Amino acid sequence: MKDTGESKEHQLTVALRIRPLSDAETEEAAAVVAHRVDDQMVVLMDPMEDPDDILRANRSREKTYMFDVTFDYSANQEEVYRATTKGLIEGLISGYNATVFAYGPTGCGKTYTMLGTDKEPGIYVRTLNDLFRAIEETSGDMMYSVSMSYLEIYNEVIRDLLNPSSGFLDLREDSKGVIQVAGITEVSTINAQEIMELLMKGNKQRTQEPTAANQTSSRSHAVLQVAVKQQSRSRDLLQEVRFARLFMIDLAGSERAAQQVSVVVNIVSGVCTSLKKSSAVSSERERRRGPPTIPPVTQNRGQRLKEGAHINRSLLALGNCINALSDKNGKYVNYRDSKLTRLLKDSLGGNSRTVMIAHISPASVGFEESRNTLAYADRAK
Ligand code: ADP
Ligand code: MG
Repeated sequence: MKDTGESKEHQLTVALRIRPLSDAETEEAAAVVAHRVDDQMVVLMDPMEDPDDILRANRSREKTYMFDVTFDYSANQEEVYRATTKGLIEGLISGYNATVFAYGPTGCGKTYTMLGTDKEPGIYVRTLNDLFRAIEETSGDMMYSVSMSYLEIYNEVIRDLLNPSSGFLDLREDSKGVIQVAGITEVSTINAQEIMELLMKGNKQRTQEPTAANQTSSRSHAVLQVAVKQQSRSRDLLQEVRFARLFMIDLAGSERAAQQVSVVVNIVSGVCTSLKKSSAVSSERERRRGPPTIPPVTQNRGQRLKEGAHINRSLLALGNCINALSDKNGKYVNYRDSKLTRLLKDSLGGNSRTVMIAHISPASVGFEESRNTLAYADRAK
């Protein structure tokens, strides 16, 4: 979904961002194994494969993966925002829900993409800025009000990141059947600087993982919820009030739930590619041949359930929901299994648009995680 408007069929966009090497990685001259080839293609090189084996099998050490759009160290925050999220704003003010997910292992840039820094703000602030601008420029007799809230889902408990002392919050269905977080702080400032400060402060309230002291919040989902209400200026009471929501979600780290999260991206992409073992050449060939056959997604189920104690329930439920949504036979979609999916009930599938931004590290130490992320997020069109 580029912001050129030629994207009607894109209910779903899958993007990939390779973060730059960190200072530490640069210092230790870490090997770079992930490269962006072009707009849509990324190549990953297996640092461990025995060159002799490869020669014998006439294989390549490199595998290619396809996305709707790709970014590497050279892409700035504005470019990532424009090519992934900006296009959702028009729909939002016309009443369509949307969700943007940042997905990937801890330390690969999810929070950087979504929140960013003071100097390099991310998708949250850029989206809000453009949303306010778009509303200002909308003429006609519609009146808009925008409110935002910022929450965390950690171990199936919801906390208000803008008011952490308010304790655990519940989900409730309002009279129109819309799921609301009861008692959450709703802010309606339109000052970008203020928003950034609020979100920065909120982000510091995210639950930290005791086991990974320097890699925070790997199991908590941070959810920025933006609600747009639209009403006619004429006081015609019969005039319908339109309501749309945009969720921007910094998902929990995918590392401990590689299978589960992968399923999310896999299924969101509606492609269900199995992990491709093919070489660059053959995967390129496959790509030309058309979509791969769809393996039964339920195959992993037993395994997934067995790991239940260690995985993130919301992440798993999200995968299952999207799986059901993409099932042509109209499988029952169970949103009730987790807090995240209950909250997103009306913002997945249907007329909603979804953007998944997968993140990987360029360095060889991240190879296994990168391979998992790439293999499943691969659009393989
Ligand atoms: P995650 O949220 O996925 O755990 P972070 O967003 O915290 O990862 O990123 C880890 C580190 O890498 C942070 O210090 C962050 O500022 C830096 N970083 C990530 N992506 C980029 C990028 N595209 N450009 C510059 N720095 C980045
Ligand atoms: Mg983070």
